[in-house]
Amino acid sequence: MNESTSLQAGAAIPVPIAVNRQTFDAVMVPTYAPSTMVPVRASGLEVWDQQDKRYLDFTAGIAVTSLGHAHPAVVEALCAQAHTLWHVGNSYTNEPVLRLATALTQATFAERAFFCNSGAEANEAAFKLARKFAGNQFGPHKSRIISCTNSFHGRTLFTVSVGGQPKYTEGFGPLPQHLTHIPFNDIAAARAAFGDDVCALVVEPVQGEGGVLPANREYLEALRGLCDQHRALLIFDEVQCGMGRTGTLFAYMGYGVTPDILTSAKALGNGYPVGAMLTTDAIAAAFTVGTHGTTYGGNPLAASVALQVLQTINTPGFLARVGQAAQHLTAALQAIIADHPAVFAEVRGSGLMLGMALSEQYRGRAKEITRLAEEEGLMLLIAGPDVVRLLPALVVSDAQIAEGAGLLRRALARFLAQSA
Ligand SMILES: *Cc1c(COP(=O)(O)O)cnc(C)c1O
Repeated sequence: MNESTSLQAGAAIPVPIAVNRQTFDAVMVPTYAPSTMVPVRASGLEVWDQQDKRYLDFTAGIAVTSLGHAHPAVVEALCAQAHTLWHVGNSYTNEPVLRLATALTQATFAERAFFCNSGAEANEAAFKLARKFAGNQFGPHKSRIISCTNSFHGRTLFTVSVGGQPKYTEGFGPLPQHLTHIPFNDIAAARAAFGDDVCALVVEPVQGEGGVLPANREYLEALRGLCDQHRALLIFDEVQCGMGRTGTLFAYMGYGVTPDILTSAKALGNGYPVGAMLTTDAIAAAFTVGTHGTTYGGNPLAASVALQVLQTINTPGFLARVGQAAQHLTAALQAIIADHPAVFAEVRGSGLMLGMALSEQYRGRAKEITRLAEEEGLMLLIAGPDVVRLLPALVVSDAQIAEGAGLLRRALARFLAQSA
């Protein structure tokens, strides 16, 4: 049998390429500094590395795998769709995307959905739509976008410019123009920044990357009022805080403040890349045929997965349990703080999106704590240098909350021993 026949028969077994963490430094563009451990498989909140060491995962891939790793119903939805139809392109629609759009519009304020592949793309679509809509209605002068300092909206040039962290735009100029940044949760600053040239204000109802900071209800209500007064659109970036994370399907529902545009991604696909921008009929109409698009957005695989995720999360029982788990985890973290009052200032956040803010004395050392926790077998995140961030899958059990708290206590004991 010659080589081409064996390939045609599918008999050639590729030789596995040996890889480890050092391979990253050799072949990857160095945009990240990943942990020394390389995860190879996972189930629920458990992850195993190349040495088969087990970890309890309180990161959920940064608020992504909210139903846990390899959730059976999600695996089933993906595999069933993989055997049926992967991709047709936007010259055709497909049944899964129509079902997903129907379900999302039934579940929210929105009447229309646009699908893409990430949070940045969802926000990019939202910002472009806001400018297009305002330009059509009021003229090109109405193009300014207001956002908050320390906000995070993604890494495309537009979204990173709207985002309020200057370190992420350094070296990438010239940047998109007509953007204003205001301090978060400051109503007077928002009022002062507004004008009739504003087409949109974007805010995370709970800032994630910026330090796990929930907006005050009065703040979001005031933003709603200011946007109405100035005929600007209110955009809620729920890429991190949405999809059940705060105990309601979307955080806006808990606040009782409805945006004009909502963006979602991260947990929407539980690890399968998908993003969504949701809005009303009137606003969506500004995106006429040909004005915006993306090859993969709403492809059958992504849409089937997202529909299964949405249907699993959006039940009263599931969301009630998120609230209960959040209470238990918050109580466990408060008990840790009570035992280490010198290390931490407070627990903050909303639902299962929690941050432990370091005290003045220990500022800048969140990464050291998460590194020690990982050695103990607990995966954690930081939100800036001063906040240890916890984002367990929403299916976290009480036993796992207790285990996670115990592992964190062991890590803190070592942290303090090293600091002494
Ligand atoms: C992660 C995140 C984004 C960006 O999402 P990507 O999928 O990484 O592009 C945008 N906004 C918020 C609030 C996020 O947390």
